[in-house]
Amino acid sequence: MSQQQSASIRVVCRFRPQNKIELAQGGCSVVNIPDNQTVQIKGAENNHTFTFDRVYSDRATQKDVYEDAAKPVIEDICSGYNGTIFVYGQTSSGKTHTMQGPSFEDAELKGVIPRMINTIFDCINKADENIEFIVKASFIEIYMERIRDLLDPVKNNLKIREEKGKGVWVDGTTEVYIYRENDILEVMRAGAANRAIGETKMNAESSRSHSIFILSIQQKNLLKGTVKTGKLYLVDLAGSEKISKTGAQGLTLDEAKMINKSLSSLGNVINALTDGKSTHIPYRDSKLTRVLQESLGGNSRTTLIINCSPSSYNENETVSTLRFGSRAK
Ligand code: ADP
Ligand code: MG
Repeated sequence: MSQQQSASIRVVCRFRPQNKIELAQGGCSVVNIPDNQTVQIKGAENNHTFTFDRVYSDRATQKDVYEDAAKPVIEDICSGYNGTIFVYGQTSSGKTHTMQGPSFEDAELKGVIPRMINTIFDCINKADENIEFIVKASFIEIYMERIRDLLDPVKNNLKIREEKGKGVWVDGTTEVYIYRENDILEVMRAGAANRAIGETKMNAESSRSHSIFILSIQQKNLLKGTVKTGKLYLVDLAGSEKISKTGAQGLTLDEAKMINKSLSSLGNVINALTDGKSTHIPYRDSKLTRVLQESLGGNSRTTLIINCSPSSYNENETVSTLRFGSRAK
C-alpha cells in the first residue's frame, strides 16, 4: 500500500424513539432497518437508502452502543493511539444522550463518557507491572470560534499551539488527574455546571457549541524508560439543523453561520482524509478541526456516531444528517 494511505473512519448511525412533540404532531416512524448496516427512509416524496458500518434502532441500549461503537476506540487509546468519537445530528436527536447519558450514575442509562473508565481500568489492570499509567481529563467548549475551559471558565479564550515534536494542543486547559470512576463524574458535573452558567451569560444554548471531553493516557515503561501517550477526544457537536428551522435572527444567525461553517469544515477534513488522494487537509479552516488535527486521520481511530430522529416530522433533517454520515465514509 502507498505511503498516503487513506484513513478509515467508522460511521455508525443511531435512531432514538419518537419524542412527545413528534407524537403530538402526528409524526410516524419513517425508518426501516432491513439489516444492521442498512437504513431505509420512507419519505413523503422519495425513499432513501443508506449503508453504514452499523445501524442501531431505537431499541439499542446505551451498553450496546458503547460496546460496539466506543469500546474498541478506547482500547486502542490504552495502547497509545489517538482517537476521536463524534456525535453528530440535529438538536434533540440524542447526541448528549449517547455521549453522556441522561444520568451519569445510572448503570443502564449512563452514556459513553461515564462508561469508558471501566474499560481504561481494565486495560491498566491487565498491563505489565512495569508500566505506570497517568490518566488526565480536560473539558472544553468551542463557541463562536472561541475555546473556553469548562473546568475553569475564567479561561474563555484559549489558544491553539503547535510545536515540532510536541504537535498541536490547546494551551492552558485545566487537567484533572483521574484515579477512580468518580473523578470522571466530577469532571463531567463541573463541566455541565460551568457550561450552564456560561450559556446564561452569553445568552447561548448548549446546542450552539461543540463540547470536547479530552482524555489522555500516558504510559511510562519503568524498565525501558520509554513514554507513550494516547489522546482521546469525545466530541458532542453543535446541532446540525439548518438555519431556517431555528428562525434565526441577530446573534443566533451569526451562531448558526459559524456552526454551519465549522461542521462543513469538519466534513471537508473527513472527506479529504478518506478519499485517499487529497494532499492538503484543511485543518486550519476551523478551531474544531485544528484542535482535533492529531487525532483525525493518520494513525488515529475515528468513529462518527450519527444521531437521528425516526419521525416523519423531522424527515428532511434526518436525510441530510444521514447524507453527512455517508459522505464521511
Ligand atoms: P441532543 O444532545 O442531540 O440535542 P439529547 O441527547 O439531549 O439531544 O436528546 C433529547 C432527548 O431525547 C433527551 O431527553 C434524551 O434523553 C432523549 N433521548 C435521546 N436519545 C434517546 C434514546 N436512544 N432513547 C431514549 N431517549 C432518548
Ligand atoms: Mg445535546
